[in-house]
Amino acid sequence: MSAAPRVGVLALQGDVREHVAVLEHLGARVTRVRRPSELAEVDGLVLPGGESSVIDKLTRAFELREPLVAALANGLPAYGTCAGLILLADRIEDGIPGQQTLGGLDVTVRRNAFGTQGDSFETGLAVPTLGAADVRATFIRAPIVSEVGARATELATLADGRVVAVEQGSLLGTSFHPEVTGEDRFHRRFLDHVRASA
Ligand code: GLN
Repeated sequence: MSAAPRVGVLALQGDVREHVAVLEHLGARVTRVRRPSELAEVDGLVLPGGESSVIDKLTRAFELREPLVAALANGLPAYGTCAGLILLADRIEDGIPGQQTLGGLDVTVRRNAFGTQGDSFETGLAVPTLGAADVRATFIRAPIVSEVGARATELATLADGRVVAVEQGSLLGTSFHPEVTGEDRFHRRFLDHVRASA
């Protein structure tokens, strides 16, 4: 493949523009994915933050659910932030009635896990896999990873031990939003996965 990987950002709802900006800054060719034909064009997919129950419904309305589930099951590299992490999780706690995920990551996530007090906050987070410098992590009505299954690996925890970043093969998920603080190391890692798998 050419030097510039072709990746998608799922563009049904949420902070699509911020992810597109980071990925383009890193030299990727970015497609906003709203239909199956657009999904078929990309070698990796970012699932943005937003509202997971809404994105879940929209994937069905746009007839994207089955193609997404199939693409992830076939090993499409993906990176989910916040609501996107929820969509990538195999199991969900505190979803709205009937809410489904796409699956892929062998984890359980709990939606809105910080309650009203920790609704939104920013903190420095050690992510050894990404190097010595802390990640500036913004949490916005964020989920936590309440259980890390055997196939997934934790990448970062809060001071109290709660898991907020995970990886499994070419799948990455973070409870927080690096794309809003100018942090690009998760996106670089995602693009490394895309290049390695293409
Ligand atoms: N609370 C949202 C949800 O359940 C996630 C919030 C976010 O993506 N910033 O999907």
